[in-house]
Amino acid sequence: MKKNNRPLNNSLIENKLLRIAILVAALIITGVALWLPTFTTPKPITLTDLANDIRAGEVVTIQDTTETGELLITYRDGSTEKSMRDTASSLLEQLNHLGLEGEHLSAIKLEFVRSKGLIASRTLSTVISLAMVGVMGFVALRVLNKGPMGEKKFTEGEIPDLNFSDVAGMEENIQEIQDIVTFLKEGNKYADMGAKMPRGILLVGDPGTGKTLLAKALAGEARVPFFAMSGSEFVEVFVGVGASRIRSLFKKARAKAPCIIFIDEIDAVGRERHGSGGGAEAEQDQTLNQLLVEMDGFGSQEGIIVLAATNRVDVLDPALLRPGRFDRRITVGRPDVKGREEILKVHVQGKKLAADVDLMNVAKATPGLVGADLANIVNEAAILAVRNNHLAITMQDFEEAVEKNIAGGVQRKNRVMSDEERRIVAYHEAGHAVAIHETRLSDPVYKITIIPRGQAGGYTMSLPEQDTMLMSKNKILARIIGLMGGRAAEEIFFQDITSGASNDLQMATQLAEEMVMRLGMDSATGLRVFPQPQGYAALAAPRTAQKTFESIDESVKNILDSCYEEAKNIISTRRNAVERVADELLEVETINRERFLELMEAEPVLA
Ligand code: ADP
Ligand code: ZN
Repeated sequence: MKKNNRPLNNSLIENKLLRIAILVAALIITGVALWLPTFTTPKPITLTDLANDIRAGEVVTIQDTTETGELLITYRDGSTEKSMRDTASSLLEQLNHLGLEGEHLSAIKLEFVRSKGLIASRTLSTVISLAMVGVMGFVALRVLNKGPMGEKKFTEGEIPDLNFSDVAGMEENIQEIQDIVTFLKEGNKYADMGAKMPRGILLVGDPGTGKTLLAKALAGEARVPFFAMSGSEFVEVFVGVGASRIRSLFKKARAKAPCIIFIDEIDAVGRERHGSGGGAEAEQDQTLNQLLVEMDGFGSQEGIIVLAATNRVDVLDPALLRPGRFDRRITVGRPDVKGREEILKVHVQGKKLAADVDLMNVAKATPGLVGADLANIVNEAAILAVRNNHLAITMQDFEEAVEKNIAGGVQRKNRVMSDEERRIVAYHEAGHAVAIHETRLSDPVYKITIIPRGQAGGYTMSLPEQDTMLMSKNKILARIIGLMGGRAAEEIFFQDITSGASNDLQMATQLAEEMVMRLGMDSATGLRVFPQPQGYAALAAPRTAQKTFESIDESVKNILDSCYEEAKNIISTRRNAVERVADELLEVETINRERFLELMEAEPVLA
């Protein structure tokens, strides 16, 4: 440690001395320059002396420097003197004042010259000023660079010292960009085959999930330069600055292609445009337009891949998502237990761990946390170990670090759910899955997870096996039953219900209203459809009788009620299956289709 520090310190001091020396030298030069004229000029004679000499007939010529009023006097005997007139009026006027008449003056040759000395001294002082500004600017930059604010905001086209092995628990995402690596490494191959590579890839995911890391690792893996910028940088200053930054970023990148351009927080630039707006919006427009121009401007052979990160696709301008721009989308989710364990493993590399440390247990204690949180926890644990005088990081250090991270305000949004909350979410999602599974016309369950995403504590995904054009009445009813499964499980297993189902109920209600009011699928209201009133029509007198309104309400309520009953039926009948799924969710957090089917088939299926 000591050994390493010394040369560093020395060079720091040298740097400082050098800077001080430059400053002192600059000051001396300025001083000299200011005094210079007085040093070189002999003491001038007064204007009165000059007048007397003229009267005595000794003066032959006077050279008058117009701008400065300096006078160079040549005498009959060839000697010269200098004098000074007042610059406010002409020499003749002033000599007249001193009592000289035309007859004295007519004998003298008057020459008017421009100031050489003045030009020289002006040039000199300009040069000195410029030098001073330069020196000051240089010093200021150096000083600022040391501060956190002066840190370079983007890496300028270096090949990152990272590869896919530094990215843990994101195998699927890595798989999705494997072809990009090949393309960047041996682009010609693809071009020869006529294959088109995406120009833009959108990485969608919550903050800290490793989007930047993935982009960097991609560049590192392909051994190509990495250019990065954040969308928020583009919109901050003056109109046009954002656009010109985009231009120069792409220009630099083009010179180094094949390469990766990474734009973080693209939503700051690419927010959907809403008609006319203020200055900020105009700026954003210009920046976005420039980005679109640049992305359209390079061919797919050029080998530039633009990766952009956001956690909000919904606000992006559709223009960005059009083919040839960001037409590939990769969702970067929060890691599950296994993923969290792997991320922890990456970050403890090179750190000493005590024998009692079980990273799986740390992973289990941190549901909902993302890679950035876990990196913080490992770091914090290492600091605590030092503070606690431990020889290696112990499990106790980890526990403290986890608590700190969860309590600490930094990532409050990523707060860890309480055990009770997790249990409710697990049963809620298991309820959805089982209700969907046991409803004949439902789309198969594809994935169940209790990893929180956005507002939701978890989600159950079911996907159709093939595209369908038509929705049948029974299929819609099956959807509603599936949506009711969550709330039904809460009621059956906890004898209480939570706000967690609000989104489900909203969707179910919408579907039921759709059936009754627009699809003519309810026998009570019949085939009549009720167009949604808009604009003026909404204000116009209702064309629907009060009685009809009542019957619509009633029909919607009936559909929802009967579907809820059906869901409760399924959950009670398959109680054991729901428990198995919920327990497994609490253990591993995510269940895929195959595993779900195994769990369902562990006992006879519902008749
Ligand atoms: P994002 O760009 O999604 O906000 P970052 O890529 O900046 O997130 O992640 C911040 C830090 O968190 C990374 O530098 C890394 O240390 C850590 N991290 C995040 N995800 C992972 C991961 N999957 N594997 C290893 N480290 C990760
Ligand atoms: Zn739900």
